[in-house]
Amino acid sequence: MLAGKRDYYEVLGVDRNASQDEIKRAFRKLAFKYHPDRNKSPDAEEKFKEISEAYAVLSDPEKRRQYDAFGFDGIRGRYTAEDIFNQTRFRDIFTEFGFNFDDLFSRIFGGGFGGFNFQQVRTGPRRGRDLKTQIEVTLEQAAFGTEVEITLPRLRKCSRCGGTGAEPGSSVVTCPKCGGTGRIEHRTVSGFAQMIRVVPCDRCGGRGRVAEKPCRTCGGDGLEERRTRLQVKVPPGIEDGAYLVLRGQGEDGPYGGPPGDLYVTVRIKPHPYLLRRGRDIIYEAEINFPQAALGAEIKVPTLTGETTLRVPPGTQSGTILRLKGKGIRGRFGRGDQLVHINVRVPKRLTLRQRELIEKLAKEFGSEEPRRRSWWRR
Ligand SMILES: [Zn+2]
Ligand SMILES: [Zn+2]
Repeated sequence: MLAGKRDYYEVLGVDRNASQDEIKRAFRKLAFKYHPDRNKSPDAEEKFKEISEAYAVLSDPEKRRQYDAFGFDGIRGRYTAEDIFNQTRFRDIFTEFGFNFDDLFSRIFGGGFGGFNFQQVRTGPRRGRDLKTQIEVTLEQAAFGTEVEITLPRLRKCSRCGGTGAEPGSSVVTCPKCGGTGRIEHRTVSGFAQMIRVVPCDRCGGRGRVAEKPCRTCGGDGLEERRTRLQVKVPPGIEDGAYLVLRGQGEDGPYGGPPGDLYVTVRIKPHPYLLRRGRDIIYEAEINFPQAALGAEIKVPTLTGETTLRVPPGTQSGTILRLKGKGIRGRFGRGDQLVHINVRVPKRLTLRQRELIEKLAKEFGSEEPRRRSWWRR
């Protein structure tokens, strides 16, 4: 609970399981008593704010649930002051009283919420924008991790004024347009109803303060576009399309607001020979019939360069040979490289090859194709 802040139920003098009617009745009684137009005692206004806040929260079932569950934190973290006070239920009761809600609202609450610790209507220094960019890495870089340098244009704190927006030597003063509240009320009349829409002040960007003499470089918002070079660390084993978040590397906020984040999407360039499947690498090797029959040593590209693979004698087409630990680093160790063996049948033969194969054919005899069971392979 906030220091010095009284429990809403206590403020209205009602039970924790009071009905909506009881809450309303309690508020009416207190609002009449402390309404600043009637009660001229010095603490009446504070009192009035306190009961208004308590009623605004407890009269709304959803806000009341939040308050019951999480106390003031459930309210402050979720709702803006506008959410709290500018609701129909709240306005209605004032109209019912014959008070002008809009006058009261702007007079009492318009000048900032003082001791009310709510988030205001998007006022104060705003956070900078998040940025998105994309980098491309090779399969090898993705497998073992790398660092990529990127250059990106982004709005950062102005180097001349340091983000204050004021020309060096001049001061920052209360915004003349909003009077320091950072908010502006737009009133529109439709029929008998008057609508108030509260928006952040466009003169000061919701900060409530402006530079007496705006900075010559940034024009007063404290931002300047700069091309920045950044090193992006890509961790080993990253997947295609994954993104990295660089906290605080987005744009700085206007008027000295905190920076946003930078999201870097990592794309993996296709490798000419190697295919990734999870932690494993797939490679298809073509060998000829003599190599398959007699066995051979063949050269195979891997993520770390060429290596020699022994193909055992009598290797069938479709056999998968495993190069242990030649895959991609993952959470559970490094994967393997799977070499799919494909026995190539020549389409064209030299005269000599033809003679030799015919001899070989005689040697094999005119054996009928063997019948292979699907079940015993
Ligand atoms: Zn500046
Ligand atoms: Zn302003």
